[in-house]
Parts: sequence; structure tokens; C-alpha cells
Amino acid sequence: MIEIKSKREIELMEEACRITALVHKKLEEAIKPGITTLELDRLAEKIIRENGGIPAQKGYPSGIKGVMDFPATICASVNDEVIHGIPSRKVILKDGDIISIDLVTYKNGYNGDAARTHIVGKANAEDKKLIEVTRQAFFEGIKFAKPGNRIGDISFAIQEYVEKNGFSIVKEFQGHGIGRQMHEDPGIPNYGKPGKGAKLEAGMTLAIEPMVIAGKPDIWELEDGWTIVSQDGTKAAHYENTILITEKEPKVLTLY
Ligand code: MG
Repeated sequence: MIEIKSKREIELMEEACRITALVHKKLEEAIKPGITTLELDRLAEKIIRENGGIPAQKGYPSGIKGVMDFPATICASVNDEVIHGIPSRKVILKDGDIISIDLVTYKNGYNGDAARTHIVGKANAEDKKLIEVTRQAFFEGIKFAKPGNRIGDISFAIQEYVEKNGFSIVKEFQGHGIGRQMHEDPGIPNYGKPGKGAKLEAGMTLAIEPMVIAGKPDIWELEDGWTIVSQDGTKAAHYENTILITEKEPKVLTLY
């Protein structure tokens, strides 16, 4: 069932989303060669807690026997890592790396979810394009995030834009409804057919998140049970915001 949020619920979500956006801004400023992903994780947790929030991904159950619950505030995925990278003191960012950070703030019963990919130090033109296409794919998708349209309209627009630019969509993971729970209905694939899927209504809150690989779309999961990497070793990018469907244009709740 897709929940329609009340005005009061939306206000609460906006607060969680505001903190998520603030953390992304502060992390962007902190990212530089020599910093570890664990340091970024600690910074993110500090800002969330200072703002009265809780890091929602920390302790998120893997649901798989023998695989630990997610141990950190942020997912920090470097280079060929697509999503769910685990922050570590051993991962020291270096010039020319790219890093995707995904984080969710929980406050007053509601969640705000967003992801960004950044270049560490000096940018290489191909990586810059990968990151920009992934970001723009989100905005191409939400052009269709209006009452009466369907989830497939968003999915198709994202896929078409990414593939037109010569990159690959990750199909095994998708966006989602969000609210009281981090993951709610509906699932929002980054590929699909226009006119298919659930119909959009004002008051729905959705996390839309293109995940894009520079080379082939195939992925592997590492032995930690979390980290997803590209099979061909090419770099990957991730861009996500929590949005609100309104009677007019969608409202992006996690932009700084
Ligand atoms: Mg996320």
C-alpha cells in the first residue's frame, strides 16, 4: 500500500530531509585526498545527532544469516563500488577517486534519504560526465513525478537518459517510497515502461535513486554481504533525493 502523507507528516519529513541535506553539504566540504571513509562516517553521525536525529542506516538488518547489520551511518562506496560500501579506517581517499555517499536521517518518526557522488581532488572528464549524467537522470525522472502519471514514466525517463549517454543502469536495486519506514511501497526501478506501475498521487513521498555504472551493468556482492561492485571494475555513481508529489511540480526535500 502506498501511503499518502498528511500535512503534519510532511512537515516532520521535511525536518529529517533538511538534516540529511545538511550532512551531505558538510561531507562534500570535508572530502579531500587523505581522509578516510570512517572519518566521513563519524562526521555524518555527529551532525545528525547534533540536530536531534538518528542515523537510520546504522544497525539496519541485513536479513541474511551470518551477515552483520549495517554498522555505520553512511554508505561510502568508492570507485567501482556502486552502493552499500562500509566506511573503514583502511579506505583512505586519494586524488582522482570518486565516492558515493548514501545516508538516511530519522527524526520524530520519519526518514529523509539522499545520496551524492563526489570527485576526490582533481576531476577526470569521464568521471565528471558519469556523475553529472547520474544526477541529471534523477531530474529527468522527476519531470514525470506528477499526479496521474505512473511509476513507469519516471523509470523509463531515467533509463532512457542514462543509456542515451552511453552508461548502464543497475537493475537489481531500486528507489522506494519513504516515510515512517526507510523503505515503503512502491518500488521505483530505474528502468521500465511508460504507463506501467502504480499511479502517482499528491502526498506520496518517494526516494528516487539512479545507480549508474560507466561500463557494463553487471554487479557482484563482496564477501562482507553488503558492498555492491561493478563486475567489470568500471566506476559507478549514485544520486538520490526524497521527493514529495504535489498537485503541481514535485518538491525535492533533500536539496541543501
Ligand atoms: Mg538512500
